[in-house]
Amino acid sequence: MRSALTFLLLILVLFAPNPVQATDVEGVRLWDSPERTRVVFDLSGPVEHRLFSLSEPDRIVIDLSDARLADGFRPDGDGVVESIRSGTREENDLRVVLDLAEEARPRSFVVEPNEQYGHRLVVDLDRVQGQERAREAVRQLPSGEDRPVVIAIDPGHGGEDPGAIGPQGTREKDVVMQIARRLERLLEEEPGMEPFMIRTGDYFVSLRDRVQRARDAEADLFVSIHADAFKDPRARGASVYTLSEQGASHEAAQWLADRENSADLIGGVKLSDKDDTVASVLMDLSQSASISASLELGDRMVQQMSGNLRMHKREVMQAGFAVLKAPDIPSILVESAFISNPQEEQLLNQQEYQENVARYMLKGVRDYFWENPVPGTRIAQMVRDGDSAEREHRISRGETLSAIARKYDVSVQKIRQANSLNGDQIRVGQVLRIPTSS
Ligand SMILES: [Zn+2]
Repeated sequence: MRSALTFLLLILVLFAPNPVQATDVEGVRLWDSPERTRVVFDLSGPVEHRLFSLSEPDRIVIDLSDARLADGFRPDGDGVVESIRSGTREENDLRVVLDLAEEARPRSFVVEPNEQYGHRLVVDLDRVQGQERAREAVRQLPSGEDRPVVIAIDPGHGGEDPGAIGPQGTREKDVVMQIARRLERLLEEEPGMEPFMIRTGDYFVSLRDRVQRARDAEADLFVSIHADAFKDPRARGASVYTLSEQGASHEAAQWLADRENSADLIGGVKLSDKDDTVASVLMDLSQSASISASLELGDRMVQQMSGNLRMHKREVMQAGFAVLKAPDIPSILVESAFISNPQEEQLLNQQEYQENVARYMLKGVRDYFWENPVPGTRIAQMVRDGDSAEREHRISRGETLSAIARKYDVSVQKIRQANSLNGDQIRVGQVLRIPTSS
């Protein structure tokens, strides 16, 4: 008798229209990048949606069944989205309208909850001119007989994927971007080298797109910058990783690789292209050449870093990072310190530490490319001409010889010798030869 009643109640619950079950749209986050604006709706549960575009003026209409806005929902536009409006439709349904500032192609998908977020509806608005603009940026990199070596700098994570978070709330995506910007500036001043930023702002780029961008830029090297995290807050020091052909060189390395690889799940990429597995196997096979180059490069970087920074391990580690799977491009991943360690979290926020990490990365890269010059590059030409990794510096107002020496990490004495200077007297506009530090 009792069970029959329960059964009856269950039927009522299952089939009665129940307004309490409506899904709340709790918030919206917008991430703008040169190619697209990503709009992420945070939801209290799963939702059915329908999306269509209207023109004159350009706008995107999203209908959500049995949904409503949570209190205090007042989003601002960003990027492609000029403003966001909403209204109730047919009693229980919600209509959200995105007014566009420029023409964009919409794509939408729902994402299941994960460690960081709950149910989400993701609307990607691809700029019609965006893809073209991205290609233009790549094409503008110098090419030709004495082309520079192109270094793709990949600041890890971004957008809704914050990466690891320190005990004081420092986000990995922010500090690695700061280090990446410093490396970019150093490379701009480095003769024979040119930086190429894989991500230039706070937005999400899938692991595969990162590799593809490096390939489109015809990069000679791919450097991914991260900050480590571990359950034991005492873990500390920087590490350099390369891709391994057969599993990880260290158990913790595989744990780390799993965590970094899961960025795509956090970032909400739709993993629909299943044929990828075959492609990635083929990719692995064609990689042995670039893996040995990566190892050698990683080795130079560890040498430079370990003399000057605290290291977690004084050797190149190997693990299966998805982001390092660029055939033909030597690729390394640098964990700049442990963000999970309270002292190192502070270090990661310090300009001096960031600058040091960038500088020793640069020196490792420099050592590698001067020892293994890529044919057809300016460095190969300089090596042929018997030059060393020598640079020029034009003196600007307020600079001193000792400041310049610090900047290039050479002694004042070496700069004096290279330029036949007797004292510390220098003048604005004067061009100094900066000798190599090694
Ligand atoms: Zn990371």
